[in-house]
Amino acid sequence: MKFASEFRQGKLAQGLLSKIRGASKRPARFMEFCGGHTVTIFRYGIRQALPETIMMLSGPGCPICVTANADLDKAIALARIPGLIIATFGDAIRVPGSYTSLQVARAEGADVRIVYSTLDALRIAEENPGRKVVFLGIGFETTAPTIAASVLQAKEDGLANYSVLSLHKLCPPVIKALLDSGEVALDGFICPGHVSAITGSKAWEFIARDYGISCVVAGFEPLDVLQSVDMLVAQVERGEPMVEIAYRRGVQPEGNTEALRLMDEVFEPCSAEWRGMGTIPDSGLRLKDDYRRFDAEKVFEIDPGPTREPSGCICGEILQGLKTPHDCPLFGEACTPEEPVGPCMVSSEGSCSTYYRYGGGGIER
Ligand code: SF4
Repeated sequence: MKFASEFRQGKLAQGLLSKIRGASKRPARFMEFCGGHTVTIFRYGIRQALPETIMMLSGPGCPICVTANADLDKAIALARIPGLIIATFGDAIRVPGSYTSLQVARAEGADVRIVYSTLDALRIAEENPGRKVVFLGIGFETTAPTIAASVLQAKEDGLANYSVLSLHKLCPPVIKALLDSGEVALDGFICPGHVSAITGSKAWEFIARDYGISCVVAGFEPLDVLQSVDMLVAQVERGEPMVEIAYRRGVQPEGNTEALRLMDEVFEPCSAEWRGMGTIPDSGLRLKDDYRRFDAEKVFEIDPGPTREPSGCICGEILQGLKTPHDCPLFGEACTPEEPVGPCMVSSEGSCSTYYRYGGGGIER
């Protein structure tokens, strides 16, 4: 199949669903790590169509949602430095930090610009040689290579006014932390397709090997997700957890070696704070010492002040699969996409935003 529409064919979906219903005998709990998968599952009513033996949980795979308020506050504090330009991807601008958002800071006079690639941010730096430009690096392994490439390009071009606030997160360490917490019992993971395109499916081997949990890397169309559930069910029924790929058109076991080389050249792992999950060792990326002049945390003195969490928001528990948006008393009332209280309602891949847009009929499986 070559076109996206071919991965949405109803007849094939019905066939896969019949196969899953016939094969699924044991109760099984599967987590889709990635917010993109959550959107597909809700948009196409996949939870409702699956047999009652299968419970689906949403995981922490939304980079905007997992960014801690303390880190968002740093970005907002940077934006308030006179003359500084913040370049960021769009979703981040509306996310509330402890007291305000980049959007409000912009309305108050800060120069915050939405860009579509790091090349745009480099261009802004070139066009404004008398001003400092900070790119807001929020994302998983998917975005880190392009940001690493922008740092290398800035070095090659001699751009002295470009730096990165690296708030990147790495996915395998958070899955390990989630499993080590022992709070969520799982039989399988739908592993993130875009992240796996960079890391390769080998990044998930520890889940099957050390935790006995099945893994299938999935794409983002409905047939991709159904195929991954079908493969997970087969593993669970056989009692043979392993890592398989249901997204061969995008993912190889070794991943993208050039992208990994770029990341490794510029970044090194560091502890990172995840919303609701605390500080997780080696789950973030910071710039290596050789690139310290491009590290916004080293270039600027950032004082974001004390942090606080939005009152009543349970994003942290939702991100761990412990609760759903329906458990939040603010959902759809005090918190909506127009007036979001927490990040899971802001991001297009956040669970609260997805539940709000596509409903869920109260079905939590
Ligand atoms: S509905 Fe709003 S307040 Fe509640 S958990 Fe979601 S983002 Fe937070």
